[in-house]
Amino acid sequence: MVSRFTSAAEQQHAQQPAPHENWAGNIHYSTDHVQDARNVDELKLIVVQCKKLRALGSRHSFNRIADSNANQVTLEHLNQIDIDDKARTVTVGAGVRYGQLAPVIDAGGFALHNLASLPHISVAGAIATATHGSGIQNGNLATAVRALEIIIANGNVLRLSRDQDGDHFAAAVVGLGSVGMVTRVTLDLQPTYQVAQTVYQNLSFSELEHNFDSIFGAGYSVSLFTDWQNHRATQVWIKHRLAPGETHDAADNFYNAKRATEKLHPITGHPAESCTEQMGIPGPWYQRLPHFKMEFTPSSGRELQTEYFVPREHGYEAILAVEKLKEKITPHLFVTELRTIAADDLWMSTAYKRDSLAIHFTWKPEWEAVKQILPQIEAQLKPFGPRPHWAKLFTVPPPQLQAQYTRLGEFKSFVNQYDPTGKFRNGFIDTNLYSA
Ligand SMILES: Cc1cc2nc3c(=O)[nH]c(=O)nc-3n(C[C@H](O)[C@H](O)[C@H](O)COP(=O)(O)OP(=O)(O)OC[C@H]3O[C@@H](n4cnc5c(N)ncnc54)[C@H](O)[C@@H]3O)c2cc1C
Repeated sequence: MVSRFTSAAEQQHAQQPAPHENWAGNIHYSTDHVQDARNVDELKLIVVQCKKLRALGSRHSFNRIADSNANQVTLEHLNQIDIDDKARTVTVGAGVRYGQLAPVIDAGGFALHNLASLPHISVAGAIATATHGSGIQNGNLATAVRALEIIIANGNVLRLSRDQDGDHFAAAVVGLGSVGMVTRVTLDLQPTYQVAQTVYQNLSFSELEHNFDSIFGAGYSVSLFTDWQNHRATQVWIKHRLAPGETHDAADNFYNAKRATEKLHPITGHPAESCTEQMGIPGPWYQRLPHFKMEFTPSSGRELQTEYFVPREHGYEAILAVEKLKEKITPHLFVTELRTIAADDLWMSTAYKRDSLAIHFTWKPEWEAVKQILPQIEAQLKPFGPRPHWAKLFTVPPPQLQAQYTRLGEFKSFVNQYDPTGKFRNGFIDTNLYSA
């Protein structure tokens, strides 16, 4: 067992959230009572003393899922990283971010199966909300969880593992911050690998009609970006996973899209300096799977985000349904990203039992306009049973959202068993999971 401690990476160019706000600055939290747990014993005391409490991760959520009108607690000091070479796992404290974790496990010869578009987020916050990357064969980041330690409402520690706790484990991993305070997470590791990233420009949506799975399966992780104009993806990012010693020669054409001859940012006109290396240059998994580098502000900065998960088998129809709104969407949009996620067994996961296409929108910070458009997108997607990303902005009515989660009743019973007074529930959870 190797034990290491990390400190937060230098992020000179990365946007830091203002006090009591989320990263994007669109949410001002409803309390300024934020406690800082320096260790698990302090956290236990805080949990026992508070009637209402919500954990804060790295504050990258766009909605009020992390909010509280009573108390929040940060767990940044829980930053231990323990690699178990024999078990091929790493156990991290709740404050650890992927960008801190990745170089440490890579140095030990290991890797994770996938990462989100940015490395800045905490592991605990990401798995609580079913955060994902892309890849037809890749489950979301929560599917790498092998075990969890949670401080429940009475201050006791609940330990759950994939091997021993079946349904309770499946209920707790994507816990939406409501089961308790996650203090430690054990993740599956695999041998480290290299990835080469190639970008193509201008893929007609018509190519998706007959080649949907081939296009999204053309690499280990594939993302399509679009502004919804001209029935095309403006960019296709293909991340090829390389076998040891393998090189990758990218073709000039990809379904009539052309290989980019310079590095690109997914948002047209933004400098590509903040993006991970492209042009087919191989590099370590953690420097290619995210789109953005740890030391820079990811994406645009001041922005809003929305994302809906639909069954992959209806992916093309769902894209065409959204495209009908293009004249309303594009003026307020930085960019849309289309990704795939493999089905999983985690009860509250957006990919629960469903191979999924995720249709994502990075919006300009224009909430008044965006909130008029969201119900229209949701109406277009309704035939496909859309599940909104737990950490992004949506207006899906609670009964419609609840109907998408067949294990919701059991999830609530599970939560009630460990938190009978609703200590860890907040307005977001009450509205979306408990209101009829
Ligand atoms: C620029 C940008 C790019 C993004 N890209 C992606 C992407 O590629 N894929 C994707 O799926 N999402 C993406 N997201 C969304 C992001 O992954 C989620 O918002 C994720 O939840 C962020 O984690 P966090 O640590 O910031 O959590 P927070 O926003 O701080 O919290 C999220 C939830 O987790 C809970 N939580 C946090 N820590 C704990 C704990 N220790 N115990 C219990 N509950 C806890 C909180 O209470 C809250 O309910 C992106 C966000 C941004 C800003």
